[in-house]
Amino acid sequence: MLPRMFSEERTCWACLQPGTQLRVDRKGKPYLACPLCGTYVFFRTRQALAGLALVSPVVEEIARRMQADPHYAAEQQQLVARSRAALFDAMSLPLSPAARSENAVVGETKKRTA
Ligand SMILES: [Zn+2]
Repeated sequence: MLPRMFSEERTCWACLQPGTQLRVDRKGKPYLACPLCGTYVFFRTRQALAGLALVSPVVEEIARRMQADPHYAAEQQQLVARSRAALFDAMSLPLSPAARSENAVVGETKKRTA
């Protein structure tokens, strides 16, 4: 039977949704797997396990605060939208209509607060 830490449901580092699980690959190395967005985070070295110890609690806290505080959630969504736009711009990828719409809302919010 696997230790308890393998059965705990975690928040995904990528999509911030619950449901990510710590698993062990066929070589005996731990990794996180999100069934919702398909993100996998592999910990190939002992040093890489620092991320599991230090980043996971921060991600859990961000998700918890976003649930509890709509203002904080809106701020985080604006950061996500700006980061996504910058990434797609750097990669020369067109934004999806949904992402373009989100960024338009972020732009309007920015104008109102400026
Ligand atoms: Zn995910």
